[in-house]
Amino acid sequence: RPLLEVTDLVKHYAVRGGVLRRQVGTVHAVDGVSFALGAGETLGLVGESGCGKSTVARTVLRLVEPTSGAIKLDGEDIAPLSKTALRPYRRSMQIVFQDPFASLNPRMTAGDIVGEPLTVHGLATGAKKQERVAELFQQVGLRPDQMKNFPHQFSGGQRQRICIARALSLGPRLIVCDEPVSALDVSIQAQVINLLIDLQRKQNFSYLFIAHDLAVVAHISHRVAVMYLGRIVEIADKHELFANP
Ligand code: ADP
Ligand code: ADP
Repeated sequence: RPLLEVTDLVKHYAVRGGVLRRQVGTVHAVDGVSFALGAGETLGLVGESGCGKSTVARTVLRLVEPTSGAIKLDGEDIAPLSKTALRPYRRSMQIVFQDPFASLNPRMTAGDIVGEPLTVHGLATGAKKQERVAELFQQVGLRPDQMKNFPHQFSGGQRQRICIARALSLGPRLIVCDEPVSALDVSIQAQVINLLIDLQRKQNFSYLFIAHDLAVVAHISHRVAVMYLGRIVEIADKHELFANP
């Protein structure tokens, strides 16, 4: 059984306009998307800007409410679950965004940022939490003495490492990466991608990996899904996909 099985996912956004904010139209952002993702597997999601990649990623995590469709995590459909019922599933699904600076609280130390999910879920406090955060820092190639520093004291690549450490903190089954290296210098991109690959080899979670750069997607993914106008138009093993252009 796959870790994640998405069936006929649809997301229509209401478009509002005018001073009364009346609904003036509908955007069919995702229009019947189905795919499965195995444990320890990486599925790349590619396609031109606006084709619905981010909406798929955010809907799978229920950060965006699906219009219809099933999102099965370990066989359990999480699409109809209430926010409360969803809580235990949230722990096992994390997201890493494109802009690491925007997703980090500038007034929190890096250590507090990485340890925050542990606090929110009541999993560790005090020395035990510090120890776990130090371990996460090491896993992503940061030094534990950097825990006391604030986001602006890190480089772009290091800030993305902080985001990755936070995503790892609860031992996720699935990490959604939404253009995680697009905002980084090209020389840093490969380092972060190789870190992501290395972490998966050791910890065996799955990635749903969005990027517009085919070389990046081809490097990290096992299979690639190509989206166009809200649908997956091709899904294949990456070797097949790039063998038949
Ligand atoms: P290569 O680096 O030779 O192009 P791949 O990137 O296809 O090889 O595979 C890298 C590793 O990921 C291999 O150890 C392979 O067994 C594993 N792998 C490949 N496809 C999958 C998959 N669908 N799910 C889980 N692991 C996979
Ligand atoms: P991609 O990630 O492939 O660039 P998105 O999922 O961001 O695509 O967007 C798909 C479509 O949905 C686009 O037409 C976009 O303008 C629209 N869209 C995205 N978010 C919203 C929103 N909150 N409200 C209305 N339309 C949206």
